[in-house]
Amino acid sequence: MTSVIERLRGETPVFSVEFFPPRDEADEAILWRAVRELEQLDPAYMSITYGAGGSSRDGTIRSIARVATETTLVPMAHLTAVDHSVAELRNVIGWYAAVGVRNILALRGDPPGDPYGEWIPHPQGLNYAEELVELVRSLGDFCVGVSAFPYGHPRSGDLDTDTKYLVRKFNAGADFGIAQLFFEAEDFLRLRDRVAAAGCDKLIIPGIMPLTTPRTLNKTIELSGANAPRSLLDRLEPLAGDAKAFRAEGLDAVTELCERLLAEGVPSLHFYTFNRSKATRELVGRLGLVPARA
Ligand code: FAD
Repeated sequence: MTSVIERLRGETPVFSVEFFPPRDEADEAILWRAVRELEQLDPAYMSITYGAGGSSRDGTIRSIARVATETTLVPMAHLTAVDHSVAELRNVIGWYAAVGVRNILALRGDPPGDPYGEWIPHPQGLNYAEELVELVRSLGDFCVGVSAFPYGHPRSGDLDTDTKYLVRKFNAGADFGIAQLFFEAEDFLRLRDRVAAAGCDKLIIPGIMPLTTPRTLNKTIELSGANAPRSLLDRLEPLAGDAKAFRAEGLDAVTELCERLLAEGVPSLHFYTFNRSKATRELVGRLGLVPARA
């Protein structure tokens, strides 16, 4: 089974795609249409997020099992420590392995309900992603990814502390990192520089949101934890009432960001798809990340 890190170490840049577990049958059909459309473009891997509730978690396990057994895609499952004992985490990791998923994005996660609320670990659980990295590693031959934050994690006091704990996750056995959303290439490059300056040479992949609607812009602001630069708002806000124009300008802005990142040598771009494929297909086509046979 190919690992994510093998695919990231290729000679030419690649891309990957992220989905969330479907909530019902209609969602499932939408997800699978997007999966099949993107499969033809040979992404480096496809990941599925891990939610807080039981049904969402079952959805992640079911969907990633289908990806592993019914498609040519390299599957990566997200996993969080939220509300799980270590025994439960071991079970989920065992399920992933049993269906052929050997790539795991190991996350601490947020308190359910209020992401900014007090973090209370499960009494028999884990406190930080670093411990989950160690757990996954101790259970077999897995390729492990972790999160990274260009502006620092919202709970981190300062960037030096944030970098210190990110490097600890790498030292605990993580193979690569995926960066949270950000606005300008320099924001990502500074994160990469901080990690390199700490003596760590692990790969960090930028997370990219196709800015197709005002909602995707707002989601990027929310997830990044930063204010959007005035120059981007001046480009997009006047188009909020014109769906077609917003989409065109938003995708131009994202293309420019990705071109800059590729020029700076990033090995891959990780696209948040919202379970749709069209915008990602358009972007990777423009960026020349699609293999010739596709
Ligand atoms: P950690 O790395 O554990 O960090 C949490 C905080 O603790 C940080 O402030 C960190 O600096 C600090 N810290 C870390 N280690 C230590 C230590 N040893 N001692 C003291 N402090 C420490 N959430 C989901 O629920 N499901 C998903 O599928 C999901 N996918 C994601 C994918 C990506 C690419 C990213 C960037 C985020 C994702 N998230 C997901 C969100 C993530 O769960 C949250 O950002 C969460 O708040 C922190 O998880 P973490 O793994 O970054 O935590």
